[in-house]
Amino acid sequence: LGRRELDLPVTIFEVMSRLSDEHKAINLGQGFPDERGPADVLDVAAKAILEGWNQYPPMMGTPDLRQALAAHGRRFYGLDIDWKTEVLVTSGATEALTASLLGLIEPGDEVVLFQPMYDSYLPIVRLAGGVPRFVSLKAPDWSFTRADLEAAFSPKTKLVLINDPLNPAAKVFSRAELELLAEFVQRFDAFAVCDEVYEHIVFDGRQHIPLMTLPGMRDRCLKIGSAGKTFSLTGWKVGYVTGAPHLLQPVAKAHQYITFTTPPNLQTAVAYGLGKDDAYFAGLSSGLQAKRDRLADGLRAVGFEVLPSAGTYFVVADVSPFGFDGNDEAFCRRLTAEAGVTAIPVGAFFVQDAPRSFIRFCFSKRDEILDGAVERLRAYF
Ligand code: PMP
Ligand code: GLN
Repeated sequence: LGRRELDLPVTIFEVMSRLSDEHKAINLGQGFPDERGPADVLDVAAKAILEGWNQYPPMMGTPDLRQALAAHGRRFYGLDIDWKTEVLVTSGATEALTASLLGLIEPGDEVVLFQPMYDSYLPIVRLAGGVPRFVSLKAPDWSFTRADLEAAFSPKTKLVLINDPLNPAAKVFSRAELELLAEFVQRFDAFAVCDEVYEHIVFDGRQHIPLMTLPGMRDRCLKIGSAGKTFSLTGWKVGYVTGAPHLLQPVAKAHQYITFTTPPNLQTAVAYGLGKDDAYFAGLSSGLQAKRDRLADGLRAVGFEVLPSAGTYFVVADVSPFGFDGNDEAFCRRLTAEAGVTAIPVGAFFVQDAPRSFIRFCFSKRDEILDGAVERLRAYF
């Protein structure tokens, strides 16, 4: 390719899913639900396609979805969002992240990233010419300190990229942590790009707190969401960004030459879905919480040390109890080939100081699949 920024390995999710298929393993690696998604949302999409709603929609997104997103912000977080100027629909959160970083970063700008981090972040920061500065979260609670932020922020900091709830660590940031972060963002006159795709998947009565809702942060944050996570429809790739016009405009400029638009029929179905009743949103978290407990109990019984999971549909397990040799990816490959169960090495979410004994399991699967995986692990260890 001739560009160092694009000279990249194949993403770990694709690598492990292919390996899993090859070995006919139970795939608890790549994060995707194995259910069909809400029937009424599917129905709205099918009707929209058949009724002919299939041409380019407006570049910013269909009015119905933008209005639904403004209403969603008000309903869940008390945010007052202007659907005409403060909402952009993208082809998945992946595009939202890419457009946000390409739109906001100038070459040489510093970007604060928290490790572990989702695998698309660093390549896009680099592609935009940004200079990454890392904060390494400390297991098992994935905490950070004021001193960590002092070391990462500088007068060159343009933005911080935060993922809350955090994949793969399953951490939900506390209000105190968000306040500390907000203090630094304001002190260094920076912005925050907030990847909140798991906003509706939080456990044990927790509340998700968008950084945007903290004092002084409304006009410094872009908030990113994904219908893939909120409606268990990862293949649809309907994502969205909300934020003040001065931040959103450059993102929209990047978006117009990345994908330009996102399928209108799917947007209409997501607009409908965002209006579903409270029981739907509560049920998403409670259903997944039960699955978290089911898999975590099973893994513990097999001998894994299981870390807490406060949100997302992932749980991290420490494999040290198995007399492990220090290479988490090799461990995951062996587990796939020999035990018939696939997980993702957590080291893949780090660029430095990677822990080497953590692996991530996805529990957004039918109960019999989770039980089958635990059964295979029990037989293997
Ligand atoms: N950010 C995080 C933290 C994710 O886990 C995912 C899920 N793959 C994405 C972004 C991408 O979301 P989408 O599928 O909507 O592009
Ligand atoms: N977000 C999903 C995960 O963390 C995977 C998405 C992808 O395959 N790129 O597993």
